[in-house]
Amino acid sequence: MKLKDLLETNIAEFGEYPLLFFKEKTYTNMETKKYADQFARGLRKHGIGKEDRVMVCMPNCPEVLFAYQGITRAGAIIVPVMFTLHPKELHYIILNSGVKAIITTSYVLQNVEKSLEGLPERPAIIVIDQPSTDHAINFYDVMVQNDDILDDDVSAEDTAVILYTSGTTGNPKGVLLTHKNLFSNAKNSAQHNETERGTTLGVLPLAHVYGLTVSNICFITGSAIVVFSSFDVKEVFKAIETYQVRSFSAVPAMIHAMLSYPNADNYDSSSLESIGSGSAPLPVALLHAFEQKFAAKVLEGYGLSEAAPVVTAHSKRIEIKPGSVGIPIPGVEIRIVNDNGEEVPPGVVGELLVRGENVTPGYYQNLEESSRVLKDSWLYTGDMGRVDDEGYLYIVDRKKDLIIRGGFNVYPRDVEEVLNAHEQVFEAAVVGIPDERMGEEMVACVVKKPGSAVEEEELIRYCQDHLAKNKTPRRVVFLESLPRNGVGKILKTHLRRSAIEIVI
Ligand code: ATP
Repeated sequence: MKLKDLLETNIAEFGEYPLLFFKEKTYTNMETKKYADQFARGLRKHGIGKEDRVMVCMPNCPEVLFAYQGITRAGAIIVPVMFTLHPKELHYIILNSGVKAIITTSYVLQNVEKSLEGLPERPAIIVIDQPSTDHAINFYDVMVQNDDILDDDVSAEDTAVILYTSGTTGNPKGVLLTHKNLFSNAKNSAQHNETERGTTLGVLPLAHVYGLTVSNICFITGSAIVVFSSFDVKEVFKAIETYQVRSFSAVPAMIHAMLSYPNADNYDSSSLESIGSGSAPLPVALLHAFEQKFAAKVLEGYGLSEAAPVVTAHSKRIEIKPGSVGIPIPGVEIRIVNDNGEEVPPGVVGELLVRGENVTPGYYQNLEESSRVLKDSWLYTGDMGRVDDEGYLYIVDRKKDLIIRGGFNVYPRDVEEVLNAHEQVFEAAVVGIPDERMGEEMVACVVKKPGSAVEEEELIRYCQDHLAKNKTPRRVVFLESLPRNGVGKILKTHLRRSAIEIVI
């Protein structure tokens, strides 16, 4: 199956059912398909077709999904990007992917224009919320309203999306995802969790692979999605009550925000049965606190852009093991290997490898990186983990975040779990900084709970009481907030820089 046929899968059954709720508007499956078809015809009319790249750079709104479906229907490739990117980052991606058109909003247009400076050729600019001008065409003016059926020259093995990783580890890389990668992953995720038709919340950015997959799962299951242009905790509670939402997908930072929201009791959230968590480690203390307060399960999963994205997940039908990211979803195999590439037994930590229909064929125009991470059809994730005897996966940390202190390996996650459980800590992240004596030293960056007067010495003593000596941070520094990317992932490189500035 192809990503472009997603809407087709349920149109006969659910055509007249709502698919998108956005502000005061509702769009059915049929209306969405109509806009997607009209936009696809328009793109073709403008000479955009097979293998051409089209960037979509705007906050979540229905037009993002009309555009995604339209682009794939035209046979072209979607390049989704976060609208919050700096013009320099946008410039890099536009140049690297060679986009022919950029779809955006007036709010982001200035940044997009800046990002075009110095490009050899100006892509077509399509804006969803302003009239057509000499520089930019209105999104709806691109649409062609006839019944022509576009020829289908796309195969399941063709690239549907080029997803630029958020660059938490360096320059963004364009992950190629085929129609098959994305379709099979959405289908298998839905099957794993026995996802039923209902209304869910689109709080994750559609520009990120996790948010994209949530919308794909809605297409497949005939579910509706309340589209959020940004995460607003009050609106989340309101929507849960209004739409009797039973489950939705989020990231730990959102779960944290829901738990800390002082007016949660003003809303009826009793319909909520489960909330999915992915993209970053979910502190065990947070899982327990959330489950206690809301009587809803937190189902942690794990994935990465290169795996389109879901690899493992908890589900309603399996035992929840806090601290674990669940078991592989159907069609996905995992393996843990040592530095020599040999598989290690359960309980032993090593690098996590992934294989399946969901795994990327490689990075766009980057053979070197592609062959570094793809060997013998296995994807080397760069994440360290272990499996237990029942096949549950535990992510220990990212390989590159490992701290080598006085010759001993310390995974920041172990220390973070302890600090996050302290009653006066709002959140904590641990980084390694250079140290003459130990090679690397550990610094805990802590955000205190409001009103807390906790001090460095107390937290260090607390760590000494709960952790082995070599895992106790040398310093604790207090910050107002932790730097995060668009999906709430802590930017450890930024944090390491701040820690170095404060401590050294
Ligand atoms: P880059 O690869 O450039 O740093 P990125 O981290 O934003 O960008 P993504 O594909 O968005 O790339 O993120 C995938 C990574 O997120 C995984 O490799 C893993 O490190 C982390 N991750 C995802 N889910 C979890 C989880 N449940 N627990 C811990 N880490 C997770």
